[in-house]
Amino acid sequence: LEKQNIGFIGLGAMGLPMALNLLKHGYHVHMKAHANRTPVETLKAAGAIEHPSLSEVVRHSEVLIGVLPEDRQMQEVWLSSEVLDHLQRVRFVIEMTSGTPAMMKKIAQVYIDKGVGVLDAPVSGGTVGAEAGTLTVMAGGSEQVLEEAQPILSAMAKNVYRVGDVGAGKAIKAINQMLAGIHMIAAAEAAALSEKLGIGTDVLKQVIGNSSGASWMLLNKMDSLENRAFDPGFKLKLMSKDVRIALYEGKDLHLPLAALAGQLYQDGEKEYGELDFAAIGTTILP
Ligand code: NDP
Repeated sequence: LEKQNIGFIGLGAMGLPMALNLLKHGYHVHMKAHANRTPVETLKAAGAIEHPSLSEVVRHSEVLIGVLPEDRQMQEVWLSSEVLDHLQRVRFVIEMTSGTPAMMKKIAQVYIDKGVGVLDAPVSGGTVGAEAGTLTVMAGGSEQVLEEAQPILSAMAKNVYRVGDVGAGKAIKAINQMLAGIHMIAAAEAAALSEKLGIGTDVLKQVIGNSSGASWMLLNKMDSLENRAFDPGFKLKLMSKDVRIALYEGKDLHLPLAALAGQLYQDGEKEYGELDFAAIGTTILP
């Protein structure tokens, strides 16, 4: 069976390794440079096809994938005439940005009206999972679109869950990010206290890793906290955006920890926004 042509939009920390995995699985990847040419050169060397415009990318694709920073770029790309006027060949869109449910639904309506399927499919697993092809996909959309998209998702992800209709993917991702954001700060506080009390990182991970205080962040971010090593990864400004989405969705609820986490990430954004979100530890560690 001939593999599909996939137009890939958003070639950042996540998009680049995800697109490389599609190439490895035999898909034809089409793309256009945005500001940074580096990922385009890497993809070209791996067999992807570069086009001079987004409309050319769209015209050559049966499937479009987007992994963009947030709502603003989702709107800019998906609702542009460069994309919308050239969809003749496109069967469906897989939208993998961590954006808001509302923006996702607004975009999906436009595409569904044009007869193009939409899968709302944000991911978890970080750049490590993106490179290894072991991401978790939280998919919102019809069972039929998910079934069609499944082989493509399998090239990038280990776990694919259908969580509801379009919008539900972005919603569960926001809940995950609220937890991840809080857990990261909690891990930084644990690192600060263990440094003061003379408890080594390895012991901490081993013992608390098997105790009730364990978290993914404690197990995976303690080393970067200890070494004050904050290369991204997942940029702090993106985590700040994610907690903001959760707080917006929960604005009528009492979410004291999320509110405080949102404030801390927002305060840290100016100085540490381009670093890994573990850099929130800089504001906590001695
Ligand atoms: P990056 O900032 O590394 O990448 C964003 C990419 O989008 C860049 O390649 C950028 O291009 C491109 N871009 C921005 N605007 C446009 C546009 N208008 N048209 C085309 N391309 C555009 O972010 P990540 O890859 O880290 O994150 C992407 C999404 O995935 C975010 O929503 C994030 O929250 C989510 N996510 C990130 C994870 C991570 O560990 N990093 C994990 C799970 C989810 P250029 O650089 O050339 O401007």
